Amino acid sequence: MTILFAYDVESKNEQSKKFLVEINNYHTDINVPYTIFITGETAIVCNKELADISSNPLCCIGQHTNKHIPIKSLFTNPDRKQRYNFDAEFGESIFISGFGKNLVKRDIFDASEAIEKITGYKPTCFCAPYGFFNGLSESAEILEILREAGIYCITTDTRSPNGCNSATNKERPYFYGKQGFAEILEVPSCGYQDDLSYACFAGRFDYAEYIEEKILKNTEVITVKTHDFYLGKEFSFENEKKQFLDKIITCANKNYTKFSTYEKVYAEYFKEAIVERGQARAKKIWKRKAQKEGKKNI
Ligand SMILES: [Zn+2]
Repeated sequence: MTILFAYDVESKNEQSKKFLVEINNYHTDINVPYTIFITGETAIVCNKELADISSNPLCCIGQHTNKHIPIKSLFTNPDRKQRYNFDAEFGESIFISGFGKNLVKRDIFDASEAIEKITGYKPTCFCAPYGFFNGLSESAEILEILREAGIYCITTDTRSPNGCNSATNKERPYFYGKQGFAEILEVPSCGYQDDLSYACFAGRFDYAEYIEEKILKNTEVITVKTHDFYLGKEFSFENEKKQFLDKIITCANKNYTKFSTYEKVYAEYFKEAIVERGQARAKKIWKRKAQKEGKKNI
């Protein structure tokens, strides 16, 4: 069981700068790794803060496109009978038109370039703005762009079949092998992809409690994701996000949960996939050999 703490940093203002310092201090104090997904434009605004945290071995820096663009279209069709569904509560069904291939490519490459200039490091992890049902399973063109940009670990599978929050609760990361991108790993969002501070989601009011249930169920990979902004009543890290995080970390520690980053999880799953592929190949060779020798019951 592994927990990934991740933060989308996208507000490109003073709040983003403050948040980067706060979150880095928090994770450093408790010695728990974390991942940020930052837009290229926010990276430029927060260049000093980003450069500072990039030397922290606990911090993994991924990208979140340059301008926070929709890399593909999204249609949400909320079930209005679900009283506490975020989309049903706050809005009608929405359609967001995805950008064309060339613009998506430009935006992803621009973000990597901006981050690399500041940190000296080209991101290998990516989080899609908005997120989608089944991630990029039907989007080989975008997977190709990500591969060209040197991105191998992505989180894009974050919505339910009707396009809404929360996600479908897949408990295990998966590779896009069927689409021809066996080296690209999807880490689906666990439950909800948005802010800890939303009043409610999927019929619940307590995000920490939801994560605690996942911990007690021994879920393979648990993602805890939030933003560099606040939607609740308390607009301070100390009074808001820290409360959620403390609660989750206490529960995780009691249950011997491992903390990791998207990059480290990628390395583990990739290693496992290579072993599995090697075993499958060996099995095939062995089977063929046995068939040749006329052995039965193989
Ligand atoms: Zn975002």
